[in-house]
Amino acid sequence: MTFIRLRGNGVSPGIGMGEICLSDPVLFSARKESIPASSVEAELRRLKKAVERTKNELLILKQDIKSTMGEEHAFIFDAHLLILEDRSLFASIEKSIREEKARVEWALTQAHRKYQELFDAIADEYFRQRKSDVSDVLARIVANLRPKQKRAKKLEETKKQVLVAHDLLPSEAAMRLSRRNVLAVAIDMGGPTSHTAILARSLNIPAVVGLHNVTQQVKNGDYIIVDGTDGEVIINPPLAVRKEFQSKKEKYDIYFRELKKTAKLGSVTLDGAKFFPLANIELPEEVAMAFSFGAEGIGLFRSEFIYLQRASLPTEEDHFAAYSRIAKAAYPAPVYIRTIDIGGEKSLPQLNIEKEPNPALGLRAIRFSLWNRELFKVQLRAILRASILKNVRLLIPMVTEVEEVGEVKLLFEEVKKELEKERVKFDRQIPLGVMIEVPAAAAITDILVKEVDFISIGTNDLIQYYLAVDRSNEFVSYLYKPLHPSVLRLIRFIIQAALRERKDVAVCGEMAANPLSALVLLGFGLRKFSMNPIFIPRIKKTFRSLELETVEKVVDEAMHLRTAQDIEEFIIERILVKHPKAFLLGQVM
Ligand code: PEP
Ligand code: MG
Repeated sequence: MTFIRLRGNGVSPGIGMGEICLSDPVLFSARKESIPASSVEAELRRLKKAVERTKNELLILKQDIKSTMGEEHAFIFDAHLLILEDRSLFASIEKSIREEKARVEWALTQAHRKYQELFDAIADEYFRQRKSDVSDVLARIVANLRPKQKRAKKLEETKKQVLVAHDLLPSEAAMRLSRRNVLAVAIDMGGPTSHTAILARSLNIPAVVGLHNVTQQVKNGDYIIVDGTDGEVIINPPLAVRKEFQSKKEKYDIYFRELKKTAKLGSVTLDGAKFFPLANIELPEEVAMAFSFGAEGIGLFRSEFIYLQRASLPTEEDHFAAYSRIAKAAYPAPVYIRTIDIGGEKSLPQLNIEKEPNPALGLRAIRFSLWNRELFKVQLRAILRASILKNVRLLIPMVTEVEEVGEVKLLFEEVKKELEKERVKFDRQIPLGVMIEVPAAAAITDILVKEVDFISIGTNDLIQYYLAVDRSNEFVSYLYKPLHPSVLRLIRFIIQAALRERKDVAVCGEMAANPLSALVLLGFGLRKFSMNPIFIPRIKKTFRSLELETVEKVVDEAMHLRTAQDIEEFIIERILVKHPKAFLLGQVM
């Protein structure tokens, strides 16, 4: 047995170890098999029957997952049921059966290939991941074309194993992970926003994805260690390595249990100052998990996902279903729904947008929405309809100038009037806010903030645009410094400008999730920190171990320093003098 160590992308922290259970790959490889013209109708009937069977199967699975894991995880099956109703997808399958006089299996293989190519052409990682939903549904239809006895065998129910797969389809991930017998997950494909990753995080199952070819290097029964914290996978380790990881696992489990306890404690500093941890989510089913980690609201719902679950454009009802689901699940806590941040790099096949030479500076987010007003109005209507519980807020991304806010407000009023005319109820006082993530907007925060009810600082983009450093380019990542004095001066200015106007201000970029940079934001007067829910306990524990008064003093002094490194070292040293037990670096003990 060969000892192998592989690096991947750790998407759900913790360590899991045990025997491997390899998941069968889904194959779309039907060869073209011609049929006589007289059999075309029979072939279409085969397709129809398989689609019906698939629908029934999905409804049963949905019920099953709902009762074992809760409503929020059954949502994936709604997305799949919607795909089954996608006319353009099935029109193309029927067309190839009719025109090519070919079997359904081949037509499905063709459709699968076409959709994979369409999705693969998308630059944005999160959007690309949604192709697995289409694969999932098509794979089910293929399976349902076969006679019953030949369909997939039942999954092993009792034995605890590590699941290793080439690419886990979303419904398979939901089914297998829900059985609570998966110790960890290791996958060739995937990224941090794949369904499997999100599900693994919410169920606390360590997971590493993006391993490229782990499935080719293992067989059923091999022993594997999956380190989801460091993104490492170790196959057939010698005893010493096994022991080393066993002890690392024990430490991590204690650390995590301790950390999670803070989820239930108050969000106050040592000297009693209140702060609000909020969650950034991408899918409606993440709400429950976010609250279990201590979130006190949904600070950012990236609504782009709605476009990714279907091959055609989402309807108002599709938007509404997602928003009202989140608003209800979070009620009475607030939910900040950000209008779509697509266009530019995040182009979608449904939208047919021309490729731009410089997408990060192109027709993105609110620029795209204002360019495509009919689409924008659909989203605004749905957000207003979902605001009935009065906990929804409207958040506009990538604003550059005051005029854009004016245009959004006019459009928003127009939509409100339409709904009033139709006697549709909504929250007339729904707060409207903007993301501050373009430096030009940051520099006029004092002006912008007078036009809105709140602001949310998107530090991920703000830093990239302010420092001229692509946030996803490894070659220049050494320059991407949240503690760069220029970034800190700008952010301090933004926060102070909002506070002077007594307006709500939050940070929803990664800076809010890092103990050290979040502490600086706290010192600037920020109280709302929105982040990936798994980081909430870490931030809570850090803040609970500090006095606000000390933080304010230290941060104020640090602002006179020249470099990010000086600032970091100064803060750590000075805080630890006052609070030797401060949970400053969020480290695993
Ligand atoms: C940001 O830019 O900081 C932000 C939260 O938005 P996104 O990461 O979705 O661009
Ligand atoms: Mg952004």
